[in-house]
Formats: sequence, C-alpha cells, structure tokens
Amino acid sequence: MASYSPATLDDIRAGVDVVDLVGRFVNLRKAGQNYKGLCPFHAEKTPSFMVNPKKGIFHCFGCGVGGDVFGFLMRQDRLSFPEAVRVLAKQAGVALPEDRGGAAAGDSGREELYRVMEAAAAFYVERLWAADGERAREYLDKRGIDPDVAKRFGLGWAPEGWETIRGALKPFGEDALVAAGLLVTRDNKPGTYDRFRGRLLFAIRDLQGRVVAFGGRGFGDEQPKYLNSPETPLYSKGNLLYAADLARETIREKNRALIVEGYVDCLMAHQHGFTETVAALGTAFTAAQLRVLERYCGEVITFFDADAAGQKAAERAEELLKPSEGGLAWGVNRAGAFNGAGSLRVKVALLPAGHDPDTFLRAEGAAGFTERIAGARSLLSYAFDRTIGETGAGAGPSARRNSFERVALMLAKVADAEEAAALSREAALKLGVDATQLWIEAQRLQASLRRPATVAGIATATPAPPIFERDLVALLLASRDARGALLPLLDPAEIVHAGMREIVETIARVPDAEAPALMSELGTDGARHALSALIVDERPLSEETVVIQQFRRRLERTRLSGRLRSVSQGVAEVQQKASSAVPMDATIVAELQQQGAVLHELVGGPVPSLTPAVESSPDPAGPQGVHTHE
Ligand SMILES: [Zn+2]
Repeated sequence: MASYSPATLDDIRAGVDVVDLVGRFVNLRKAGQNYKGLCPFHAEKTPSFMVNPKKGIFHCFGCGVGGDVFGFLMRQDRLSFPEAVRVLAKQAGVALPEDRGGAAAGDSGREELYRVMEAAAAFYVERLWAADGERAREYLDKRGIDPDVAKRFGLGWAPEGWETIRGALKPFGEDALVAAGLLVTRDNKPGTYDRFRGRLLFAIRDLQGRVVAFGGRGFGDEQPKYLNSPETPLYSKGNLLYAADLARETIREKNRALIVEGYVDCLMAHQHGFTETVAALGTAFTAAQLRVLERYCGEVITFFDADAAGQKAAERAEELLKPSEGGLAWGVNRAGAFNGAGSLRVKVALLPAGHDPDTFLRAEGAAGFTERIAGARSLLSYAFDRTIGETGAGAGPSARRNSFERVALMLAKVADAEEAAALSREAALKLGVDATQLWIEAQRLQASLRRPATVAGIATATPAPPIFERDLVALLLASRDARGALLPLLDPAEIVHAGMREIVETIARVPDAEAPALMSELGTDGARHALSALIVDERPLSEETVVIQQFRRRLERTRLSGRLRSVSQGVAEVQQKASSAVPMDATIVAELQQQGAVLHELVGGPVPSLTPAVESSPDPAGPQGVHTHE
C-alpha cells in the first residue's frame, strides 16, 4: 500500500492534527485522553467514534472502522491512498517526490476534478468583478446583496458565449471539463459547449470548502431560472448544504442551524448576521442533510410561509418519519432539553404569507427575523395541527376516528417517550379525546412498528481477538523491549485472529516502526481496523518488565510443549519400530527420553495443549494478571 517512504508518511502524520482534520466533519468532544463524536461512517445516536490525538488514530467501536489521518480522508472523501497522502502533505507542508518532478500515482480522478472546479470558480469570480460583469453586479445590487458578502460566498459570473470556460481551462482538457459538469456534450454532432452562459453563479462547496458544483441563476427570461451542475463524482444532490463550510463554526457555537431554501435567502441571512444559515439546495431539506447538521448542533430551524406551513410541515414530518429515512424517527423532537448527542430538534419559524427569508429580512431586518426564530415551534406540532385540523369542526365520528388513528400513528414513530407524551397531551386536547387512550393506541402501534435493530451501512464486524492475543499485540505495539524479548518466541502462524496475525507479522518485518506508522504498512482493512481499536483503546500497562516476563514464560511454555509433543511423537515412533522388531539404536531412544524429561520439567506439570489452552493458563501469575482492569 505504501508507495511513499515511511519517513515521508511520518512527517505528514506529525504535521496533521487528527482532531482538527476529523473535527471538520465530526463534532468532537474531549473524553479522557480521547475525543468522542458521532461516527460519520454509520448512523448512530450515541457516540462511539473515538479519536486519539496523541497517536493520530481514529476508531469507531460501533461499526469497527478505524485508521490514521490518511485512512480517515480516504473513507470520508473517497480518495485513493496516494490522493489522501497528497492532500495531507500539502496541509502539513511536506514536499512529496512528485513535487520535485516525479510522477503522481494512483489518481482516481477526483483530485483532478477538484482542481478543475477550483480553477473554474476562480475564473467565474474574476469575470463577475471585471468590466463585462456589470450586468451581474447590477443584479446583485438590485437584490440588495453586499459586494462583501458576494465575495465571501465566491459568487461568479458566467459570460455569454458557448466556449468561454472551455477556452479558459484548456490545459485541463475537454474530458475533465465534461466530467466536472462544466461542458455539455452536443446531442447530434461531435463537440461540447459551456453549460453556464450569461448566468450569476453560486459556488457550492463541500464541508472542506472545496467547490464541487455551481448553481446558475438567469437574470431575465432565461429558462430554467436556476440551472445547476449535474451529478458528478464530486457532487450528489441531497446530502450537501449550501454554505455549510461558512456556517459550520457558528452552527457549532450557537448549537443551532437555520435552514432556508434558496441561495439568496442564505446570503441575506448571513448579511444580516445569521451566519449559522445554510440552504437546502432544493425545495425541501433531506434526512441526509439533517444528519450532517446533527453532527454540529442540537437544533435546526426552518422557515415556512404562514399559508403553507401546515401542509409543508406535514409533508416534511411524514417524510422524515418514514422508516426508509433511517433513524430520524427518534430524531425529530419537539422542544424541551437537549438530551444527549443525536437528538435533533427540528423547528419551524413562521413568516408572514407571501414572504421568504430574503424578502422578510429586507422588509423587517434582523430584529424581526430574531423574533420569528424565537417563536419557532416543533415541526411535529405543525404536522399534528394539520392532521387534526383536516377533521374540521363538527366532523362526524368516522372522520374523528380516522384523525385519531393518524395522530396515534405519528405519535408511535416519535421514539423519545417524553416528547411523545407531551405531543399526545396536546393532540388529545385538540381532538377532544382522552390523552391516555391516545397514548395507549400509540404504544400499541409503536410495538407493531418496531423493526429489528439492524443498522444499514455497518462494516462487516470482524470477530474480537482472544484476550491473550489482544494483550500480547497491545504490548508489542507499546514496548520496544517487548518486541525484542517476545518476537523470537512467536510463530505468527499460531495466532488465531487474522488481524492480530497480520499486525504481528508486520511488526516482525519493521520492528522499529511506531504503532501509528504500522497503519500504512498493513495490507488489509481488517488489520487496520484491529490496529486502530488497540491504539485508541490504549490501556495502561502494569510494570512493563514484569508483564514481558509473564508473556515470555507463557510463550516459552507454549513453545516447549510444542517441542515436547514432537519429541513424544519421536519416542512413540521409535517404540513402534522396536515392537515391529526392527533393530533400533538404543542411544536415540535414551536421548529422546531424556529430552522429554527435561521438557516436562520446564513445562511443569501436565503438558498444555497449544492453541485452545492459551486462554486458560493454570499459572495464577500468568499473563491474565495483565488485564485485571477489565
Ligand atoms: Zn461507525
């Protein structure tokens, strides 16, 4: 796996702060010597994702994934190993061979696309502020967008013309520009043309601030009014949030996010000081987007026009409570205390009929907006109101029964019991039914809805190693002396757990490597995950020399008993030959028997069998004494 020298990789590891890197994607909190957060690689509501800052290693005890900074970036950004090395080398200020003229290897093409998009964004920004960008600047002015805000968001202008971007980015080649979504292939004849022409461009960035797509707005009668980048290897709709890179810090600080529909809504909110605002890049936010926000805050506030609120809230709630949306059933909470990681309160702030955040902010300013936010109510409350309201005053018993059932069904999907109880009291009052009755019905439905607790996307869990092997490998990782004393006694073939076996083989190959450096020497993900678990789960060692002694005795016994077995076999064979009247050498028998006696003595007592018995050492001071803190 390693195509870069271990020294280079060490330099990069030393120059990249793992907490800083992972912290761009995961909200980390200090927990003892480690940091803890919600795993970005599987859906969970209790943090089991750990980062060890000293060793530069992460590990998730939920899905079993783990590794170093390279492994994290590879998984998070779907990069190849050399790509991850290049990205982090740049951050750490470490020069790579290819920086000095060597060839770059293992490019999956994504890195090239990032460069293309970066160059395109720079070009479009330049055009906006150049002479021919005047029409676009006039439009910004008309919409009340500050030039400063426009610059902070990297707004650009795609000039009229069919081959402007193709000409400007010629060195990248046509194929890369097509792959990046900047050029469109002609339908009937060969050739390509610019996708964005005569449009104001909003650069869509990922959480790391890299441009992955553009949204283009026409000024006049152009159709469509909004034209977006197509899905590319860098950009898939539905999981990105516009301005998340700019808003993330404030979202974390304020522990809340404001989510709006349009680019201009978002710009306006930032311009008025609401820098925790992101845009959903569509008419409605998705569960995947909420899951991103959930890593940074406990509350999300969305804005609905008063006329449409009931209907929109009902639609959003229905969608978010769908089992297929995975895990958000318990996440959509109404109000009340923020209870632990993973529970996200989704609220709705009402705007006067006909307003969106953009028009409202321009009319009422920040103070009015703040008031609306303060009055935000749970998305679920709105959804309930809608469901109950449909029954209408004076509805017949069957309509009421129907509405009772729908409310009970929604309640059943709210896994937070306190939340559900409060909602059911509210709903019962409005429905004119007994709260207990409604609650019982919801409980009944909940029991029938309960699905088996399988979490999608979990890496195939590897079995845990036997305690003896785990402790032995942990010792080898931590101590040079242990490596010197124990490696000669170890036959890796006798190690049962595949991951532990690979780690021992690798330590034997590069005995001077520090534990984190082994990461890039290992050949399989299984071994890397096993290694990260050991490193993150760093246990305090008792007196090192004593522990090494205990393991040495244990391993020597194992080895001796192996030899004893083969000697005993030798004796048995010789005796068999003797009984078959073949002439035998008396000295051989005597020697074997003597060896056997010596070995018996050393092993002490009954001969332990090799592999299965290692778990049950009869020696009370044996290696099991090492992990008494379990
Ligand atoms: Zn995980």
